[in-house]
Amino acid sequence: MFGNCWTTVLDILYPPKCPACKNPVHVQGAWCQTCLTKILSVRQINMSEHNLTHLDSCTVVCEYTGGLKRIIHDMKFRQQQRYAIHLSWLIQQNISKEDFSHIDYVIPIPLHADRLKERGYNQTEVIFKDWAMKGKMPWMPKMLERTRHTIPQWELNIRERKQNITGAFVLGRPEMIKDKHIIVVDDIITTGITLDECAKVLKKAGAASVHGLTVASGAR
Ligand SMILES: [Zn+2]
Repeated sequence: MFGNCWTTVLDILYPPKCPACKNPVHVQGAWCQTCLTKILSVRQINMSEHNLTHLDSCTVVCEYTGGLKRIIHDMKFRQQQRYAIHLSWLIQQNISKEDFSHIDYVIPIPLHADRLKERGYNQTEVIFKDWAMKGKMPWMPKMLERTRHTIPQWELNIRERKQNITGAFVLGRPEMIKDKHIIVVDDIITTGITLDECAKVLKKAGAASVHGLTVASGAR
């Protein structure tokens, strides 16, 4: 009841708009059909082509292009946390718990503590938390920890990316991982090296399966 009233007040004060073209939409967080047609591309990344050996699969929801590219960039580098609702909406509309056979944990890719302090939030956590909670999937944001600074992956070639990320993650509670089915979530997948490194750490601790899920990618 209170939730409905609040939504109504919010809709009057801030009428729901598509984040890319600003045209009106029916609900907060939604994208208009025209913009959605340009970005939506739910697909599986080809594991062998990208030489990803630890991840079992990786699902991507959108093309990393146009309005979506700008929004993800603004969330990461311009403190625009308000866009999270639009990215979360894309996940919630297109991916359900049933898309994965059985899931024990959802784990977001962590930021290093210094970067988290500087940004004030981990964009991946803000985007995926609602989706995990609504699907009643155990949300485990503290399970993976980034122990050292890494250079942003987009500044590096593939060989450098591997060196940059190897050994960067540790598990908070490795004893909880054995035989578990896990989804690791991130905002973007480019080469998949970061997600695969996390999968390596989880598999080493005995994870039964590790699946990736990201909002966007330019990769096939
Ligand atoms: Zn639009």
